[in-house]
Amino acid sequence: MNAQPTLLGLKVDIDTYEGAKEGIPRLIKLFKRHSIPASFFAVMGPEHSGRAVFRLFTHKGFLKKMLRTKAPKAYGLKTLLYGTLLPGPMMSEKLKHHYRMIISEGFELGVHGYDHIAWHNDLTKWSEEKIRGEYDKIREAYRKIAGKDPESLGTPGWQESADHLKVTDSLGFSYRSDTRFSQPFYPEKDGYASSVPEIPTTFPSLDEVLGNEDVLKGKGPFDVMMQRLQEGKINIFTLHTELEGRFYLRFFEEFILKLKEKKGMEFLTLQAIADRVRENDDIPRRSFHMGEVPGRAGKVAIGGEVSA
Ligand SMILES: [Zn+2]
Repeated sequence: MNAQPTLLGLKVDIDTYEGAKEGIPRLIKLFKRHSIPASFFAVMGPEHSGRAVFRLFTHKGFLKKMLRTKAPKAYGLKTLLYGTLLPGPMMSEKLKHHYRMIISEGFELGVHGYDHIAWHNDLTKWSEEKIRGEYDKIREAYRKIAGKDPESLGTPGWQESADHLKVTDSLGFSYRSDTRFSQPFYPEKDGYASSVPEIPTTFPSLDEVLGNEDVLKGKGPFDVMMQRLQEGKINIFTLHTELEGRFYLRFFEEFILKLKEKKGMEFLTLQAIADRVRENDDIPRRSFHMGEVPGRAGKVAIGGEVSA
């Protein structure tokens, strides 16, 4: 029996224009139908998803993964051409009504990088100065939508670096959600200790689970997710407007219903979870490293050892 409530935060990443246009209104409707909060993290710059297709040549297994996850069908042909044969749409301009709808409907809107593909590929190599320039563009775009500075962020592809910690600490973000780990921590890297909490994604993402052996044998991907729920603890599930907001909406809703049936469940925005974390002085300081998670090509930031 758990005396502690099971906290669950839904982190909705907005990566692609096509996915956002359909997925944002549908997910908002779903969350309202079930009276649950959620936190959206939106790309502010141009979409160049098509360029990710070129990873096919640089990452072993990407083509296999694309076919296995039916990515071309799930993402749509246009998405795969943006930034290659078609010019990439400027997300914060073309989706400004959608982004404003997130706020006006009472949900949290954080930022998810500028050019998703560039951030995912290069953030860990960028200098402090380069990252600061990126945040100048992000904050300007966000202010045009919300009339204030962004307070929360999640980097594309769970990328993190000491320079990124430094810049975002100085810009007054109240928390970050950039890594994979079981529970929140204060991140430390290369001798730099951040005073801003990291609220990590604790579940695998849907595209990672689709290639899971149990799923290939016929088990539902969200049944696999249920096994990863940490009762009496903080849980963060990252979903994507182009997947759970479209083809997988019905399955995602079943997952929500199953979670709601659990005793002691409390759904919160990531901001509310971060507020609780800040009130708790037991939260450890941890380093992180770039490592692999099952079912995902490339590396993500993963929480590590407790620092002294
Ligand atoms: Zn993303």
